[in-house]
Amino acid sequence: MFNATLKQLSALLAQKKLSSAELTQSYLDRVARLNPGLNAFLSIDAGKSLAQARAADAQIAAGKAQALTGIPVAHKDIFCAEGWLTTCGSKMLANFVSPYDAHVVEQLNAAGAVILGKTNMDEFAMGSSSETGFFGPVKNPWDRTRVAGGSSGGSAAAVAARIAPAAIGTDTGGSIRQPAALTGICGLKPTYGVVSRYGMIAFASSLDQGGPMGKSAEDLALMLNVMAGFDARDSTSLERPAEDYTRLLDAPLTGDRAKPLSGLRIGVPKEYFGAGLDGDVGAAVEAALAQFEKLGARRIPVSLPNSALSVPAYYVIAPAEASSNLSRFDGVRYGYRAAEYSDLADMYRKTRAQGFGAEVRRRILIGTYVLSHGYYDAYYLKAQKIRRLIAQDFAQAFKQCDLILGPTTPSVAFALGAKTADPVQMYLIDIYTVAANLAGLPAMSIPCGFGAGGMPVGLQLAGDYFAEARMLQAAHQYQLATDWHLRQPAGVE
Ligand code: GLN
Repeated sequence: MFNATLKQLSALLAQKKLSSAELTQSYLDRVARLNPGLNAFLSIDAGKSLAQARAADAQIAAGKAQALTGIPVAHKDIFCAEGWLTTCGSKMLANFVSPYDAHVVEQLNAAGAVILGKTNMDEFAMGSSSETGFFGPVKNPWDRTRVAGGSSGGSAAAVAARIAPAAIGTDTGGSIRQPAALTGICGLKPTYGVVSRYGMIAFASSLDQGGPMGKSAEDLALMLNVMAGFDARDSTSLERPAEDYTRLLDAPLTGDRAKPLSGLRIGVPKEYFGAGLDGDVGAAVEAALAQFEKLGARRIPVSLPNSALSVPAYYVIAPAEASSNLSRFDGVRYGYRAAEYSDLADMYRKTRAQGFGAEVRRRILIGTYVLSHGYYDAYYLKAQKIRRLIAQDFAQAFKQCDLILGPTTPSVAFALGAKTADPVQMYLIDIYTVAANLAGLPAMSIPCGFGAGGMPVGLQLAGDYFAEARMLQAAHQYQLATDWHLRQPAGVE
């Protein structure tokens, strides 16, 4: 059952072979048993989860079930959920119980999904390894001495260890795709504006996007169907007709069943296969490319010439926006407040010095610096110009191809603590993921093999704006022909 797809779980519920209350309880038991070794979940509230499950059972009994009704889903602790502790991985919000639901949470609740719990993450989603959070690092289920990736590492580890059927995460520079790659699961960052940011604690608003994490492309499509949609409370939410993201999954591009991806042009950027890419990761991605060709896709060499500038541009823009977004945590309205202070300015200073961890403080300092008078033009404005060039690179590439394929990360999961002392080394892990955020494009990661130490390797598929259904189709067809996504870590049976 813990390996079942969302469709299979939904069928079990519909056939009354299992109630949502039973399903939820068995996941809660599994969390209780396996989470202590993983630190994937920060909060569990069995009473709340089971109440939702019973309500779902009533919906099912009344014949009103939707695709996700009764299915437990793990929520990254960045999503506000009414009555749930919502910490964003920070001491600053360690006591914050949200009085309202994020739009995504509202949508999942309305669809009858059950909140299984809130998952661990990097503090305020700043990190690539789920080690910067106040509540301790997430461990990779494939090897507990290694990182699970970040910042949605808790959601990724929960799905990988099969202690949650599916999860939600957020991706500002790779935080859905990168942990998905490092834990051998699937994750998708939608086109900017497809999923509302309302109630998703802001890191860098022009880059942040929520998305699904799960065991297969098909599961992601079902989740995205519920998560996507216009929301007037997010000024960048896109108003467009609702899409069924599952519609292309089983629709071969031509009538040829043996070559379901015939005609699909897959762009392979040379910049994603150069120096910095570990050999084991490169080999697994190459093998996957060969498999895509076997399925009928055509390989097209493309170039994204400004790729090397994406990390420097991102690490100016993201901290700049973060420094503004995080100014609301001042000890006055909610969250942590220093116990002792002399006056108002001292209260702000001590609250923020004590409430934020080192990485968050570093980002706020960088952000205020690059936005300050005298440096704005040299750093922030320059980074915005590079951002435009990066978007233009993709626009050029998508004249020649339908999707872009490459590695999600330059290496497999590394040892806990290996990069925490050197922020630049940590930032470089995002080399293949941040460009999609800068350009606002959809991108996903799916497992495609194993590398050094038997650790999972992820491949990234990126598409033009609103190409989610096409990306999911390619990924699904690949998954029908391969079984990397079905592999699960040892020791979590
Ligand atoms: N690793 C990147 C950062 O630290 C991306 C984080 C994210 O996507 N939330 O900024």
